[in-house]
Amino acid sequence: MQKAKLVIIGSGPAGYTAAIYAARANLAPVLFEGFFAGPAGGQLMTTTDVENYPGFPGGITGPELMENFRKQAHKFGTEIHTEDVTACDFSQRPFIVKSSKREIAAEAVIIATGATAQRLDVEGTRDGEFWQKGVTACAVCDGAMPIFRNKDLYVFGGGDTAVEEALFLTKYGSKVFMVLRRDAFRASQIMKQRALHHPKIEVIYNHVLEKVEGDRVVHSLTLKQVHTGELTQKNCGGVFFAIGHKPNVDFLGDAIEKEETGYIKVKPGTTQTNVEGVFAAGDVQDHIYRQAITAAGSGCMAALEAERFLSARE
Ligand code: NAP
Repeated sequence: MQKAKLVIIGSGPAGYTAAIYAARANLAPVLFEGFFAGPAGGQLMTTTDVENYPGFPGGITGPELMENFRKQAHKFGTEIHTEDVTACDFSQRPFIVKSSKREIAAEAVIIATGATAQRLDVEGTRDGEFWQKGVTACAVCDGAMPIFRNKDLYVFGGGDTAVEEALFLTKYGSKVFMVLRRDAFRASQIMKQRALHHPKIEVIYNHVLEKVEGDRVVHSLTLKQVHTGELTQKNCGGVFFAIGHKPNVDFLGDAIEKEETGYIKVKPGTTQTNVEGVFAAGDVQDHIYRQAITAAGSGCMAALEAERFLSARE
């Protein structure tokens, strides 16, 4: 069986940053970047312009940014496998990390598999339809795009994320509609009040999305009243899903402790999980910030902590 000092699972900003730091520290990391589990590079691969990643004053596309991260990780000697990790055994050291093609005995592991923004599966919103052509699951990533300027924008969801996204979108849209599937918010009181009192936000209760239509980009949507079934078509320049994220932890089993929401629990201020030698970085352990830069920062932390853990055992 192949042996490695450090295996990194995941290839978003957290995974690649961990790899850059670990490779430069001569840990010869092995990184699984995923295959069927989603695009290597993570959530940024499905965004267009990234304007808030420091160091790129002219902006950069998500895929280009991730390609740069990958190249940098590779340049310093990271061994990258385009495979999904299917199972891990954390019951003893070395830990065993399994993909469809190999098993690796690892002294330390960094989990950086991210989270997946939930999407509604509705006509017009799917890949090849208007997904990323006016339909997105990240207002902060995509909201500033010209196609959304001075248009009526629709946010689906009634949690804190939905309110945050709606507030963010008020800078760009002519009006922002929040569509809730029931008659109440899930968001905290303070966030709910912000939405209710914002002059550019209107809340539509008890409605769900029925259909999205357009030509090159989204032009309209149809809402359904959940009690009466009544359909209403509205002009619309953007559809934003804010119905929650799901951390990508299914392959982990129960050995790694998680929050009730499924996110990996880490010791506050660190990337340490409940298993010594196993670290978690990026969105798989962060439901609050969820930004490329914070994910990259925690990937750096995980690599430094893994390095310290490994050198203490030498
Ligand atoms: P969330 O709290 O789980 O809210 C999800 C929202 O989406 C709910 O309103 C839910 O409706 C709705 N929803 C779910 N599935 C839907 C579907 N199929 N169709 C229509 N609507 C659907 O998720 P979140 O807002 O992403 O927040 C996640 C966690 O992060 C929370 O603990 C939140 O407090 C925290 N957070 C905090 C902040 C902050 O403090 N500033 C910011 C962002 C997130 P129902 O209510 O009807 O289920």
